[in-house]
Parts: sequence; C-alpha cells; structure tokens
Amino acid sequence: MTSEFDQLGLHPQLVQAVSERGYSTPTPIQTKIIPLTMTGQDVLGQAQTGTGKTAAFALPILHLITPGAGHVQALIVAPTRELAMQVAKAVYEYGRNREVRVLAIYGGQPYGRQINRLRKGVDVVVGTPGRLLDLIKQKALDLSQVRTVVLDEADEMLSMGFVEDIETILETTPSERQTALFSATLPPAIRRLADQYMNDPQAITIQRQQL
Ligand code: AMP
Repeated sequence: MTSEFDQLGLHPQLVQAVSERGYSTPTPIQTKIIPLTMTGQDVLGQAQTGTGKTAAFALPILHLITPGAGHVQALIVAPTRELAMQVAKAVYEYGRNREVRVLAIYGGQPYGRQINRLRKGVDVVVGTPGRLLDLIKQKALDLSQVRTVVLDEADEMLSMGFVEDIETILETTPSERQTALFSATLPPAIRRLADQYMNDPQAITIQRQQL
C-alpha cells in the first residue's frame, strides 16, 4: 500500500506501521519536521499536543536507528511519567516492525527492572529528568553513543524546575548529537537552552489543530 508517508523517504517498515495505525496523510508538522530531521538538522519546534508532534520526532529517529546495536541511540526527555509512557508506547508501536527496543524510565518504579532492561540493550530511552539522572549517576544508563536527543514539552520541564537536570543529562551525550526541542511556548529560558545546547536549530511553528 502506498501512502503520502512514502514520499517523505521513510523506511518501508515505518510507512507500513503508520498505515496500520490508520494514518494516511502526514500532518503539517510531520511534513515539515520529518525530512528536516532525517538530514540531521537540529529543530526548535513550537507545537502543542494534538499536532502529531510525537510521530514527527519518533519516525526520523526510528528511520535512522540500527535496531539491536547494543547501545542507546536516541533519548527522549519528557516532563511527566504519563507523557513518557505515552511517547514510549508510540515509539514502540511505530518501531515494532523494525524490532526497535524502547524503554520508558520514570520515577515511582523499582530501579531493578529498568536497570536489567538497560543491561540487555535498549535502542531508544524515553524518560523523565529525575530518574534519567539517577540512572546516569548509578552508571546504569550510558548516553555516550546517543545520536539524537528530543526534549518534549520543554516549557513544562522548565516550569517544573528541571532545567539543571536537563543540562546535566545533555552534557553526558556527545556534543555532535542532533537535538530537537518541542515546546508550546518559547520563553527566554527555552531560547537560552537552545542557544547553549543546540547547533543552529531551524525554528518551526505549527498552529494547534485537532486531529
Ligand atoms: P500528538 O500531537 O503527537 O500527541 O498526536 C495526537 C494524535 O494524533 C495521536 O493520537 C496520534 O496517534 C494521532 N496522529 C499522529 N499523526 C497522525 C496522522 N498523520 N494521521 C492521523 N492521526 C495522527
């Protein structure tokens, strides 16, 4: 089956996964972000939930990944446990045909299971700042080979006081990584974070639309 997702140059297994989910047409943010991030460009996306932003950042990550390489290749940071779980589920479902291994890491869960999964090898980690930092400090989470970092709902993370945690996490990833930041608003603190940790990001603004 062909779909407009083919034309974005995505891996056929990903095109199949999105059509199995019933998506036939990419949303405006997907049309803009997917081709851009597939080239390695940093993006600063002003977009809210409901625009299809999760697939916009997840599909290029899944396209560029080598499943089962044995190290964390992409990191997605989200403000809350609920969002981390929801994003991890979406990444897992889009990447299922490619056998991508995804782990959600958040507080309030025993460490043992998360650490065991990390030991066995995970391709994509989706987590909240506090627990990510805990596992980095315990040397259970190694981000030294991460290729792409996504900061989702960055304004929420900043207003929850996570800015220093995020900076510490970013500093454990390679400086040549690709960074994508999504935020509903772009206050000065977000722009500062972008200036400091992103490489010539392209700004993309998407108005809210209901899917
Ligand atoms: P998000 O903004 O990422 O939270 O996505 C909002 C909702 O839109 C989710 O339920 C997605 O499954 C759905 N969605 C994402 N992309 C598409 C698409 N291209 N076509 C139809 N639904 C989509």
